[in-house]
Amino acid sequence: MNETPDNSAPAPLKLFNSLTRTPEIFTPVHEGEARVYTCGPTVYNYPHIGNMRAYVFADLLGRTLSWKGYKLIHVINITDVGHLTDDGDAGEDKLEKAAAERAQSIWDIAKHYTEAYWDDIKALNIRQPAHWSIATDYVPQMIDYAKAIADKHCYELPGGLYFDVSTVADYGRLARATTEDGEGRIDAVEGKRNAADFAIWRKTPEGESRQMEWDSPWGKGAPGWHLECSVMSEALLGLPFDIHTGGIDHREIHHPNEIAQNQAHSGCDHSGARIWMHNNFLIDRAGKMSKSAGEFLRLQLLIDKGIHPLAYRLMCLQAHYRSELEFSWDNLIAALTRLKRIVMGVERLKERLKATQDSKPPHPKITEMRAQLDSAISNDLNSPPVIPLLEDLLSLKKIDPVQRMNLLQEIDQLLGLNLQTLTRTDLRLPPKSASISETEIEDKLDLRQQAKAAKDFVAADAIRDELTAQGVELMDGDPLRWEWSIKI
Ligand code: AMP
Ligand code: ZN
Repeated sequence: MNETPDNSAPAPLKLFNSLTRTPEIFTPVHEGEARVYTCGPTVYNYPHIGNMRAYVFADLLGRTLSWKGYKLIHVINITDVGHLTDDGDAGEDKLEKAAAERAQSIWDIAKHYTEAYWDDIKALNIRQPAHWSIATDYVPQMIDYAKAIADKHCYELPGGLYFDVSTVADYGRLARATTEDGEGRIDAVEGKRNAADFAIWRKTPEGESRQMEWDSPWGKGAPGWHLECSVMSEALLGLPFDIHTGGIDHREIHHPNEIAQNQAHSGCDHSGARIWMHNNFLIDRAGKMSKSAGEFLRLQLLIDKGIHPLAYRLMCLQAHYRSELEFSWDNLIAALTRLKRIVMGVERLKERLKATQDSKPPHPKITEMRAQLDSAISNDLNSPPVIPLLEDLLSLKKIDPVQRMNLLQEIDQLLGLNLQTLTRTDLRLPPKSASISETEIEDKLDLRQQAKAAKDFVAADAIRDELTAQGVELMDGDPLRWEWSIKI
């Protein structure tokens, strides 16, 4: 935000397109609309917080498009079939594997983890998309789609129907890969013509049966994961649509394969979506976060430790979506403290608002800050500088509170921190391990207050020590007596 923005004109929205590896000005396919498809979770396990970074990013994109005045049509899919343990076309179906290991029905597993994912979506204040498309609801369309491209672009092997990536122009341009790339992938399946060829229909092996299988011209079986996203995005958004999003790992295999199918099905060389956007990873010290290594960092674990989920959202927004973000408990607790300060600032602003009514034209400082907001967010969703901008706005005591509140609301339309309703008390989640309840703490604080009033400082100190021993930190001097917290 070093350059001086032109305060009068809206900034053009620039988004980094992974296809060209450059920021491009967003021009919608359909005037006034923005059609966005986001690759959703594979519901064989809980999402970890790294997975949720992908949806905080997609939400920031959606909020930005809405704020810029576009009618947003957003689709997020739920992969409940077809995603193999190895993206490079080998291994087992993740859901079949989970069901076998836990001796449970696949449908129950999918339902349980879809609901858990939706809980996280809600807790992170991620807006509901226009459509949640569930892969198993689209299997007939997937079979029709595969039939339409089979003759020209596919071949059969004992394992099912394979897509021949050499039949489309410029395969792998998104990953900057070629048909020959992906060594190791070819060995996994005998008879593949090119290393990068992939199954669009996986036949159930003779003599076996799967919990999820459908009849098809290539035998009983299940659709491939890449096919699902091509079919659902085209069915719900039409081709070409505006933006396709996912984590950076999808840039290498999943999205190039979707693009190849889109080319085959549409008969054109366009990629299906005009802009492909990818969020970078949340990493921990050991590297990429995974569900199997170390402590399984799911959102519920953060909540159990007394950290409000919106502190995690703020932590994500403090980094640009294309940067790696290293997770640490210290960073997360710092984000929580920052969020508390912001919320206290908003509460003070609300107090001042009660006494004011504004009808003046916007103060030049507010106009300037709004332009700074626009220039940052329009610059490939550059959220990090928006947070100090918000903090500056809260500290501008001399400017009319109504005007400050109006801009604050706009900022929060973008950041989604729920600042209109979030209170300090909401942020004080008791850790699951806490040995003392909020009411007990409040009661003890009342007693301490009475002791102090009676100048019985020995008793007051004894209560303080007792609370400290139970993990309660007291920060004296807050007029609302909110300043206590249970140590995390
Ligand atoms: P999955 O459920 O494995 O299909 O992943 C859901 C989404 O999370 C995909 O868009 C992935 O690219 C993304 N993703 C996976 N791991 C991470 C991570 N550590 N940080 C950010 N995004 C991730
Ligand atoms: Zn996908």
